[in-house]
Amino acid sequence: MIKHDVVVIGGGLAGMRAAVEAAERGADVAIVSKMHPVRSHSGAAQGGINAALGNREEDTPEAHTFDTVKGSDYLADQDASEAMCEDAPKQIIWLEHRGCIFSRMPDGRIAQRPFGGAGAPRTCYSADVTGLVILHTLWEQLERFGVKVYEEYFCTALAIEDGIGTGVVAYNMRNGQLELITAKATIFATGGAGRMYLKTTNGYASTADGMGIAYKAGIPLMDMEFMQFHPTTLKENGVLMTEGARGEGGYLLNAAGERFMFKYAPNKGELASRDVVSRAEWTEILEGRGVDGCVLLDLRHLGREKILERLPQIRELALDATGKDAVLEPIPILPGAHYTMGGIETDKWGATRVPGVYAAGECACVSVHGANRLGGNSLLETIVFGARAASHAVDYIKSVGNVRPSERTLKAEQDRVNQLLSRNEGTRAPKLRHAMNETMSKNTFIFRDEAGLSEAVSEMDRVRKEFDANAYVMDKSSTFNTDLVNTFETDFLIDAAYALAKGALHRTESRGAQSRTDFPERDDDKWLVHTLAFREGDGSPRLDYSRKVTITKFSPQVRTY
Ligand SMILES: Cc1cc2nc3c(=O)[nH]c(=O)nc-3n(C[C@H](O)[C@H](O)[C@H](O)COP(=O)(O)OP(=O)(O)OC[C@H]3O[C@@H](n4cnc5c(N)ncnc54)[C@H](O)[C@@H]3O)c2cc1C
Repeated sequence: MIKHDVVVIGGGLAGMRAAVEAAERGADVAIVSKMHPVRSHSGAAQGGINAALGNREEDTPEAHTFDTVKGSDYLADQDASEAMCEDAPKQIIWLEHRGCIFSRMPDGRIAQRPFGGAGAPRTCYSADVTGLVILHTLWEQLERFGVKVYEEYFCTALAIEDGIGTGVVAYNMRNGQLELITAKATIFATGGAGRMYLKTTNGYASTADGMGIAYKAGIPLMDMEFMQFHPTTLKENGVLMTEGARGEGGYLLNAAGERFMFKYAPNKGELASRDVVSRAEWTEILEGRGVDGCVLLDLRHLGREKILERLPQIRELALDATGKDAVLEPIPILPGAHYTMGGIETDKWGATRVPGVYAAGECACVSVHGANRLGGNSLLETIVFGARAASHAVDYIKSVGNVRPSERTLKAEQDRVNQLLSRNEGTRAPKLRHAMNETMSKNTFIFRDEAGLSEAVSEMDRVRKEFDANAYVMDKSSTFNTDLVNTFETDFLIDAAYALAKGALHRTESRGAQSRTDFPERDDDKWLVHTLAFREGDGSPRLDYSRKVTITKFSPQVRTY
């Protein structure tokens, strides 16, 4: 049996930042990850990370907090947003002192580019490969502290004994064994759930695992209906064209060559918040002003030199997928599923309701993004709350004696996997996943209404039941059984998608990324509350609205850009 004081599930930015913090504080910490940490989706982050560094006098952590809260359409908890924005400059310096190479201004200070919904250029970056650069910086720190990494271990369940978290069960993908990993504190950092949708910017591993594991163990998911659709993704493959492209001055054009964004956001234009830009694009497309189901991202006026210096990766990605060179012609783009604002409910230290269980990064809902996340705030969230969760966990474990290995969780997982593998016929996971993807993409996209959402809820209920009764794994082998792993992932995605659909149906208002054509207004009297979803025995979500939004300095206002 494996045993550590602190176990971090996930080796992306949130997981690695948490592990480094725990190691710096002297704890015995290990990472469990289904893939090598530097292959995590964080490595795909392009545009940058926000912090009010004070390069401009008017840019302060308070201004950053205000932009974050406004961006969230007033659903973010303001105490958590304050904690994030106040810590941001310190965390950037922390990274910089550990060798993270940020792009610079000519005078040597860290450069910052404008991003959507921000009152000042506040996004620090490394060209358009920021996530990869930070990921490698943290990997070096893990090596420095000799943190043990259990790679290609797929976590399947959370162990809770006497009301406290005691570790996890993980499936060793190399030999097919389930192993008990006992820990006094467990930190989930398993990333997002974009794979609920047919097309997404997310990597293949963004399958809601941590969310599903916590949810099955009784911890609620929060605000799942808020899925962010990024305004600029490629039609061909869903790949992201960073918001940095508009930050550097890129335009959005419709079929008539018109810069349409100023009709929808007279002050900010292309740099309004993502929900506003995505809705505007989709409206242009629906009203017949699109080009082959897309609108155009035009960078030509930036010139070859600037494109090659600041946006080299997206030029290449677009060239590969579309054959179009952004230096010479506009790139067709459309909105695509990008970021899961909801997730495992935590407080502002990343602690869940169950002592000893934490969540940080995209799998968590702290909540700092509310109904719409600002670009550049997610990388920041991984760093700030990875560190905060670990620091809280290291304090917590001091008061915990030896924890009892949860043999019964291991046994339950063994029985469950044996049952899955013993079926000789049934419905394979890809079929169920495809049904979910089609439903979610059709009914829970940018514009939503009661009819579509009701259809999504009943279809997700059917898929949930079909999975439980008939999920069938064809491959029975024990070495790298990707069929089985895919089945685990599909199970978690179904839970997350069901909670999203039901939360969206019951929230009868439009706020941030949730845009209801039948309830077009924001309703602060009724809906300044978070949606909590608890998992019922039959796999359906039970919704609860007892958690109010925390408001400190900024009372809700009409939101315009
Ligand atoms: C293309 C793209 C570009 C982006 N650009 C930006 C940007 O410029 N700025 C910004 O702020 N945000 C950006 N984002 C969002 C941001 O990158 C992510 O939200 C963030 O990196 C998520 O980090 P994470 O550590 O929470 O999860 P991830 O980086 O997704 O890592 C998850 C980890 O969990 C592990 N894991 C998952 N499930 C299991 C399991 N069952 N068992 C064991 N291990 C498991 C995986 O192996 C992986 O190591 C972007 C996102 C995408 C998709």
